[in-house]
Amino acid sequence: MARYKDEQCRICRREGQKLFLKGCRCYSDKCSVTRRNYAPGQHGQKRSKLSEYGTQLREKQKTKSFYGVGEKQFRGYFEKASNKKGITGENLLQILESRLDNVVYRLGFGVSRPQARQLVTHGNIEVNGKKVDIASYLVKPGDVVAIREIRKDNPVVKENIESNARPVPEWLELDKDNMSGKVIRLANREDIDLPVEEHLIVELYNK
Ligand code: SF4
Repeated sequence: MARYKDEQCRICRREGQKLFLKGCRCYSDKCSVTRRNYAPGQHGQKRSKLSEYGTQLREKQKTKSFYGVGEKQFRGYFEKASNKKGITGENLLQILESRLDNVVYRLGFGVSRPQARQLVTHGNIEVNGKKVDIASYLVKPGDVVAIREIRKDNPVVKENIESNARPVPEWLELDKDNMSGKVIRLANREDIDLPVEEHLIVELYNK
């Protein structure tokens, strides 16, 4: 996915809400959505009313941005969600929540999903005792996600774990001392604090 490396704030401003892509800054007065809650660009201050299609599209783009997933991969998750029993939109969010980079973020090892992804891809993370450096790896109930022994002195991770003020969701169990977390079960919709109307994404893809 083409990423805005230094411009995550523009993505939030385009969506008109905080997507928490930058860690501590997102909780401070420096947050761009707090300071300038209008879309970036010359005509950003004139938000026009969206069509039905436009609303559905924005909901999909917002969800992709939240999890840092590209279009092709997101579509793949949708197909997978459609083939599972249950409500497709909820299945989709459950799959996204099961991504390893998201789990690392939820456990507080990273201050943002982009930072959590970097921790994974730079080889800091193991699952069930084996190094996994694929951010899109999907965890299963019973999996233990941990900081690798040789990386436990990483000052960034130590600081993140100590200062994390976000509650760890109920579907995960954090063992702070061992810098690890267990997946108790997969996330339910109620566990996912995402301001997204997932049914709009389903409607968009089913057009
Ligand atoms: Fe989004 Fe965080 Fe930037 Fe605020 S500081 S606009 S929440 S990335």
